[in-house]
Amino acid sequence: MNIVVLVKQVPDTYSERKLRSDGTLDRDATDAVLDEINERAVEAALQLKEAHDGSEVTVLTMGPERATDAIRKALSMGADKAVHLSDEALAGSCAVQTARALAKAIGTVEGVDLVVAGNEASDGRSAAVPAMVADVLGLPALTHAREITVDGSSVTVKRETDDGVTTLTAELPAVVSVGEKINEPRYPSFKGIMAAKKKPVATIGLADAGIDASEVGLASALSTVTSSQPKPPKSAGEKVEDEGDGGAKIAAYLVSQKLI
Ligand SMILES: Cc1cc2nc3c(=O)[nH]c(=O)nc-3n(C[C@H](O)[C@H](O)[C@H](O)COP(=O)(O)OP(=O)(O)OC[C@H]3O[C@@H](n4cnc5c(N)ncnc54)[C@H](O)[C@@H]3O)c2cc1C
Repeated sequence: MNIVVLVKQVPDTYSERKLRSDGTLDRDATDAVLDEINERAVEAALQLKEAHDGSEVTVLTMGPERATDAIRKALSMGADKAVHLSDEALAGSCAVQTARALAKAIGTVEGVDLVVAGNEASDGRSAAVPAMVADVLGLPALTHAREITVDGSSVTVKRETDDGVTTLTAELPAVVSVGEKINEPRYPSFKGIMAAKKKPVATIGLADAGIDASEVGLASALSTVTSSQPKPPKSAGEKVEDEGDGGAKIAAYLVSQKLI
C-alpha cells in the first residue's frame, strides 16, 4: 500500500503568535514544529505500513525551506521518503489554494492508495484542507478518524464527532483525516534520527507539480483576513474565600457568569 501523509509545519503553540500587518501569520517570529496532529497522522500511517507488508509511507508538505525540519521529524519516526512543495509564490495561499496545490503535489507520487492528514492544523485551524483535497482529487473523504483499518481494497474508519461514533467504509484510493484520539505518536529513536538523514526528500516547485503561479499566493487568495485584534490580556480572576460557604459562593459566581 502506498500511503501519503500530509504534514504541516506550524508555529509552536507554546510561543507567542503574531499576525503581520497584511493579516498573514508571522511564521518567522516563532519556533516552528511538526504539528502534533500530523505526528498522529504519521503514526497512523506507520501502523498501517507495519500491518501491510510492502507498504510505503511518503510525507508531503507545502511550506517554506525550514519546513524540512518537520519532514525530518516525520522521516525519523519511520516514514520512507518525502516530497516538499516549496516556492515563494505559494506564500499566503488560502486553504482552497493550499488544497489544490497539495492535490497536484500528491499527483507527483505514483500509485497513491491512501492519503492521511490531520483533522485541523493548530495555526490555520480551517479543518477543511483534507476534505478539499479529496474533492479536488475526486476521492472519498473519511474525516475525524479515531481508528483506521485497511482490508483488501477498502478502508474503514471509526469517525468520532460530538454526535457520536460512526463507522465509514470506502474503496481505495481515499483520503482520511485523523483526530487526537487516534493514537499516541512514537518518539523517533536515535537510529531513526540517523536513518532520516539519508532518506530521499524530493523538493519540487510550482512547475514540477504543474501549478500555475496565478492559482496560488496571497494576491489571488479566496479568503482574506480583513481585520484582527490582539487577544485581550488575561484578567486577574476572582478569589473566593472559603468561610464554610465556598461551594455556595462558587455556585453563585457560575450562575452570574451564566455557566450553570
Ligand atoms: C480566513 C482565513 C484566512 C487566511 N489567510 C491567510 C493568509 O492571508 N496568509 C496565510 O499565509 N495563511 C492564511 N490562512 C491560513 C491558510 O489558509 C492555512 O494555513 C492553510 O491554507 C491550510 O489551512 P489550515 O492550516 O487551516 O489547515 P487545516 O484544514 O486545518 O489542516 C488540516 C490538515 O491538512 C493538512 N495540511 C494543511 N496545510 C498543509 C500544508 N501546507 N502542507 C501539508 N499538509 C497540510 C495537514 O494534514 C493538516 O493537519 C488563512 C486561513 C483562514 C481560515
